[in-house]
Amino acid sequence: MAEITLNGVSKSYGQTKALIDIDLAVPDGAFVVLLGPTGAGKTTTLRLIAGLEKPDTGDISIGGTRVNGLTPAQRDVAMVFQQYSLYPHLTVRENLSFPLRSPILKTPEDEIARKVAEVAEVLHIPHKLDNKATELSGGEMQRVSIGRALVRDPLVYLMDEPLSSLDAKLRADLRVELKRIHAELAATLIYVTHDQIEAMTMASHVGVLDHGRLVQFGPPREIYENP
Ligand code: ADP
Ligand code: ADP
Repeated sequence: MAEITLNGVSKSYGQTKALIDIDLAVPDGAFVVLLGPTGAGKTTTLRLIAGLEKPDTGDISIGGTRVNGLTPAQRDVAMVFQQYSLYPHLTVRENLSFPLRSPILKTPEDEIARKVAEVAEVLHIPHKLDNKATELSGGEMQRVSIGRALVRDPLVYLMDEPLSSLDAKLRADLRVELKRIHAELAATLIYVTHDQIEAMTMASHVGVLDHGRLVQFGPPREIYENP
């Protein structure tokens, strides 16, 4: 759990102003949904918090620590993308273990086994642990890619349209599950989508970006009463 703050954050790519003077305070344990049209700056916001990009100006802090100078690995955030980034020829168990097998973490084998079992339980895929990633349905693959973030037990989860490639039924199921998982972990989560239903059903806070500016931020009820 951690609060996240952006103070006066701007980012340009050449002539394109992707983000302009963003001030944002995400409370500890919030489920923030970032909405906005394509090109509004949603993905850039996640990439800056993750440390995959550096701001041109401004400060970013996580859990009260200024992280501007920190690498992604030093920030204790996990990012989930819309494309499932699974290793197709490895099993679900191996895919879930992978993030814990880094030479830096040196996680003991019994702890890896315990965490993988726990995450498989949370995601309702324990019966798939010995299947190869290629043998899974789209919804199961997306669960595993969310699981790869969960095993690391980070302070912050950043998710970039993780459900956009799924059909409506699976999206609805996973929306419910993500909300449950968020509540169970009491984690801080920032979630990018184009989908207003996702915003309304999952968010504790909604942020609306438009042309690189944060134009609204607050509980969903407030946002939808003052469109
Ligand atoms: P969103 O996620 O809301 O669709 P992005 O954050 O991806 O928006 O992009 C914001 C703006 O920055 C867009 O105009 C996009 O084309 C531009 N942009 C993003 N990443 C890059 C990049 N690596 N190089 C050049 N322009 C980029
Ligand atoms: P989104 O699904 O958020 O709209 P995009 O398709 O805008 O995502 O961007 C996908 C990736 O490409 C992101 O990593 C973004 O930073 C990068 N990107 C976006 N626009 C550009 C661009 N004009 N030039 C180079 N990279 C870009």
